[in-house]
Amino acid sequence: MSTLATDTGLAAVRREIERACRDAGRDPSAVTLVAVSKTFEPDVILPVIAAGQRVFGENRVQEAKAKWPALTAQHPGLELHMIGPLQSNKAKEAVALFDAIHSIDRPSLCEALAKEIEKQGRRPRLFVEINTGAEPQKAGILPQDADAFLTQCRERYGLTIDGLMCIPPADEAPAPHFALTAKIAGRNGLKLLSMGMSADFPVAIAMGATHVRVGSAIFGARG
Ligand SMILES: *Cc1c(COP(=O)(O)O)cnc(C)c1O
Repeated sequence: MSTLATDTGLAAVRREIERACRDAGRDPSAVTLVAVSKTFEPDVILPVIAAGQRVFGENRVQEAKAKWPALTAQHPGLELHMIGPLQSNKAKEAVALFDAIHSIDRPSLCEALAKEIEKQGRRPRLFVEINTGAEPQKAGILPQDADAFLTQCRERYGLTIDGLMCIPPADEAPAPHFALTAKIAGRNGLKLLSMGMSADFPVAIAMGATHVRVGSAIFGARG
């Protein structure tokens, strides 16, 4: 992919975010664009950093560890977000490497993260993933279990959860899934909503997303 195409992708996504915010009567500064760079090499990521993008998302600890420390050292002020499934035995590396974790989905991970946050004195922002479509193959807490899980995070593990994340089923209209996630967040006093990908981020912004996770619309199709 050419550098030009990458820049065009980022600029187009930024314009769409501004338009969606205007339509929804929201301040564009209330929406963080997480540029999902998974599978892309640093030579493709660098022009996007040069164009001013500061927040990036990866879905694998090993890949992020291989790619990002060098980029972060060269470009102070970057934020790295973990958006993919996280194994409890990677909690130590995840707390050290990421500024936010979007994929908290079970008590054992809470326990491991709480231990590492305490040990490292470093606290990434934390999102609980909600499996809004109750899809068996997908990670996340079922909507009917969300309130109890959030209480457990707080009371049993002493974890402050900042927001919720969802990935709607691929074959359904996303709006009801975004609305359900926003409703669960609202009644639990959570301010952050990680929702919306390349295909549906304007809808997510209309439903209150504070973090949109956009990959292919910025970087092109993944190989
Ligand atoms: C890959 C990925 C994205 C980005 O998907 P695109 O359709 O390329 O924008 C967003 N969220 C998660 C959890 C992902 O794994």
